[in-house]
Amino acid sequence: MERITFLGFIIDKDGRRPDPEKIAAVQQMPPPTNDGQVRSFLGFIQFYGSFVKELFRLRPPLDALTKKDAKFLWTSQCQKSFDRVKQILQSDLLLTHFDPNLPIIVAADASQYGIGAVISHRFPDGSEKAIYHISKALTAPQRNYSQIEKEAFGLITAVTKFHKFLYGRHFTLRTDHKPLLTIFGDKKGIPLYSANRLQRWAIILLNYDFTIEYVNTNHFGQADALSRLISDQIQQKECEDRVVAQIESEVITNLVSTCEQLPVTADMIRAESKKDPLLSQVYKYTVSGLWPPITDKSSQISFFHNRRDQLSFVADCIMFNDRIVIPSSLKARVLKMIHRAHPAIVRMKQLARSLVYWPSIDKDIENMVRSCDQCASVAKNPIKNTLCSWPIPTAPWQRLHADYAGPLEPTTWSWWTHSPNGRKLSQPLPSQPQLQSTS
Ligand SMILES: [Zn+2]
Repeated sequence: MERITFLGFIIDKDGRRPDPEKIAAVQQMPPPTNDGQVRSFLGFIQFYGSFVKELFRLRPPLDALTKKDAKFLWTSQCQKSFDRVKQILQSDLLLTHFDPNLPIIVAADASQYGIGAVISHRFPDGSEKAIYHISKALTAPQRNYSQIEKEAFGLITAVTKFHKFLYGRHFTLRTDHKPLLTIFGDKKGIPLYSANRLQRWAIILLNYDFTIEYVNTNHFGQADALSRLISDQIQQKECEDRVVAQIESEVITNLVSTCEQLPVTADMIRAESKKDPLLSQVYKYTVSGLWPPITDKSSQISFFHNRRDQLSFVADCIMFNDRIVIPSSLKARVLKMIHRAHPAIVRMKQLARSLVYWPSIDKDIENMVRSCDQCASVAKNPIKNTLCSWPIPTAPWQRLHADYAGPLEPTTWSWWTHSPNGRKLSQPLPSQPQLQSTS
């Protein structure tokens, strides 16, 4: 038997393709007139989603019609997506069979609303053929990820979804987002500077044997097109969703525990950050991933620009690595708390660096400590050793303590001895004693 028709697919030696009979049915389908028909159409294309690269780009207008309380309005965009999906299904769609002996490539890409990924083989003649496509809509919190996080999320979703094909085998992981190369590409370990979500995802990737490869966006048609096709949201929680959900809860726990050490709550930081003109800009640029070139290097925004690959959002609060970015209006309150025990400059900076960030934080700490009398008096008399009591002697003259004090008057020095039997002696000395030995 050369080929079989099985569950809507035709399978032969080259791979599998959709059954033309099933496709013919959808070709004749008129545009939907209610949300029920949209749902059936989406269900159908979801079934063949592994063939359709552009799904994550085409689905959003149709998905919008199936939302709860959404008014049914068939727009020109809906019509365009509908026509395009039909057109794609009519073209020659073929997914190749998986062959563990051929080189494996995994590529992923993200758009604002979804991610797409593809696993393919590179054949000896240099051609690449897809084995499986996936696409996934981003949830509302995921849509707030920074661009680098969306791109990384695409890779992580792809790797966990294609786990069965990849685990224990070497593969190439392809991205069009260059900063991910340093974060996920370093075999020696995960760079400490990467933001918390990225760092946790990097740990997942340590389980796999891969080479990460950068491909210019212009040559990145495959997965890019894929991430526009969004898969059905009504799916059971899959393995990769659980992995991601767990990381999300870890990241939020981290935020909460940092806030517990501060005199501010996450709600306050979120609300004040929204009002803060500087942080609103940072928020906008980080979400879009589109930072304008900064000409004034001393401006506050340039501090964030320089750290843009390490910024992320947790529960809508801006994070710089594991540190919460504090809006201007809350700086004084946070500083006051960190300064509570007068820890002096070095210690205070250490404490601040473990919790919070804003552009001039080091300078603000220095100014605060310098203008604080209590910090100044502590700094002048540093305690070099921990104070402790001598053990109590058991007999008189067992131990003799001696010290001198002065000058009490211009020419008088005093010599003090004290023996633990209670007798104290003091004697004026003519000049400063010359100590021969410190023992
Ligand atoms: Zn102080």
